[in-house]
Amino acid sequence: RSIKLKNVALESMVLERTKELDRANAQLRQADEMKSNFISMVSHEIRTPLGAILGFAELISDKIERIVLPNLDLNDKKVQKATERIGRNLNIILAEGDRLSALVDNLLNISKIESGKMDWRNELLDISELIEQILLITKPIVTKAGLTIQADVEADLPKVTGDKDMLTQVFVNLISNAVKFTKAGWIKICAKRSGHEILVSIEDTGAGIPEAHLPKVFDRFYKVEPSPAGNKGNTGIGLGLYICAQIIEKHKGKIWAESQVGKGSTFYFTYQIPMPLRDTTDE
Ligand code: ADP
Repeated sequence: RSIKLKNVALESMVLERTKELDRANAQLRQADEMKSNFISMVSHEIRTPLGAILGFAELISDKIERIVLPNLDLNDKKVQKATERIGRNLNIILAEGDRLSALVDNLLNISKIESGKMDWRNELLDISELIEQILLITKPIVTKAGLTIQADVEADLPKVTGDKDMLTQVFVNLISNAVKFTKAGWIKICAKRSGHEILVSIEDTGAGIPEAHLPKVFDRFYKVEPSPAGNKGNTGIGLGLYICAQIIEKHKGKIWAESQVGKGSTFYFTYQIPMPLRDTTDE
């Protein structure tokens, strides 16, 4: 009888604890949702004025180049110096603006992905077309950094399905990193078939990542410190690769990196090739 009583008491205690845990979980979920909404709201609010700042800075830069410069008296040393300084400062505004823009895009994507509110599209994608577009998008930042970029894509790769904008974000993040952490040399994108998958790699001749850090670089907010590239490259907040990993995971692929300090890094990811539907018309 006393054992029975003990069991009843124990059961009611377990029930009580389970209820407490459920309540705590619900509170955590609510707090998490509030955080995601907040990040998404702030990022949206930053995006609009930032777009205007960058747009006007580009307009000023263009006007100076086309109208002001050809009409300047460059024999006047003062004018020459001031013009050079304006040009340098404008370039800083544009570069920092671009950096902030990339950060805001990443924050927006993270909050959407983590809150489960992301509308993943399932488009049929031609990898070689996608890579061609990526080369066009990234060429300006690569050239500005004094680097070169080239692609080696196997002919007739099968199409894959996925969210084009999100997969573009993966390429852009990986290539931006390659640019940030490479002082001199080249970046190479390769895509080839490997069994039931397509294997993509992005290789650079940059500072590299020490072996102990390699498995952790895909963690949220993880940065290699001190950076083998020095502080100049390490301007991000450790979100770029985390986002890549989230996006690739959602596409049922894998992502990893190989690297040698002082020689360079290669980031790999895979896409699943969709199974062809079996033709049953003749059966
Ligand atoms: P961040 O946005 O701060 O660059 P990431 O998540 O993109 O963050 O990268 C995490 C860290 O991994 C970086 O801080 C950097 O130290 C290292 N890293 C990423 N890509 C490269 C690369 N191509 N070459 C060298 N180090 C890299």
